[in-house]
Amino acid sequence: MTHLAGQVWTPQGWQAGHLRFDERIRGLDVDSGAPGLFLIPGLIDVHVHGGGGADTMDGVQGVRGMARFHARHGTTALLATTITNPWSDVLAALRGVWAVQAAPGPGEAQILGAHLEGPFISPQKLGAQPAFTRLPTPGLIGEALAERVIRLVTLAPELPGALEAALQFAQAGVRVSLGHTAAGAEEADTVIDAVFGAGGEIGGTHLFNAMSGLSGRAPGVVGALLARPEAYAEVILDGHHLHPTSFRSVLQAKPGRTLLITDAMRAAGMPDGEYDLGGETIQVSSGQARRADGGLAGSLLTMDEALRQAVRAGASLHCATALASLHPARYLGLTDRGAFEPGMWADVVVLDADLGVRQVYLKGAALL
Ligand SMILES: [Zn+2]
Repeated sequence: MTHLAGQVWTPQGWQAGHLRFDERIRGLDVDSGAPGLFLIPGLIDVHVHGGGGADTMDGVQGVRGMARFHARHGTTALLATTITNPWSDVLAALRGVWAVQAAPGPGEAQILGAHLEGPFISPQKLGAQPAFTRLPTPGLIGEALAERVIRLVTLAPELPGALEAALQFAQAGVRVSLGHTAAGAEEADTVIDAVFGAGGEIGGTHLFNAMSGLSGRAPGVVGALLARPEAYAEVILDGHHLHPTSFRSVLQAKPGRTLLITDAMRAAGMPDGEYDLGGETIQVSSGQARRADGGLAGSLLTMDEALRQAVRAGASLHCATALASLHPARYLGLTDRGAFEPGMWADVVVLDADLGVRQVYLKGAALL
């Protein structure tokens, strides 16, 4: 049994004391704790392509590599995220995700499943997604669902067949995230209403990035999502994708539904240079990953840095922790992580007073 002293995150606020755990959380003993050490529940990234030189599309070794890399930055669970590629390559990547999820290794963040980002997106809003978009059909979706790992799908609601697709995914328990879309608010609302009507969950994929924006007469997908407090919204808070004020406006609209993600690509944690993303060459320098045309291509973010960026942007550490742990757990319907209730997995991150990661526990096992 491990006894760890610090300021312990609880949904209500910080509690000085000792956290007791083996593989699972056993309890919190209230005492003077330890000054300058924060114990927060493991961070959960629902949108991450890669890191440490590895990528979901590389297959089993890629998924394990990114899971090890991100674990050292406090991510204890993640959705391995695919990119828009030839369909057979996407299916092969999903099989790799399944293989790792079914046989987790030591030192790896838990693979919770896959985030299918593309091919069911708009060719007008590709961002860094290669141009292998497809229209969603029941047949293609059935093939993807048969791989058993998809928990979240990014979908452009304006595509022919998107409404039926959203329902097919929602009925399979998959979260439907609107993204890479040029839709108007009405098209978005139709899909949002249908998914909520079917008992599903709605999200927004990297809100603001690669989607129709909000203006007075044209609310776009951003407006449609902000107007629904019950919809979740991912944000890439890396200092490049999103202005801090845009972040604060999302937080005001969705205090319990905002999610920090990384959208990290394989160059996260690696030296500057050229890297592959979905078959395209990406230039990495001064903390940014860019395509040949200059557009941002994923991020070099890690979840601990996203947490620090949120604090710099004005969120409290308590709030930032919720955005990176409790909210993604809720979004995915997980009750075994995202907080320190007795019986939950002992995924614990220890932060020092500068919010650096001092230690990470994966199901009770110390990593660093
Ligand atoms: Zn994207």
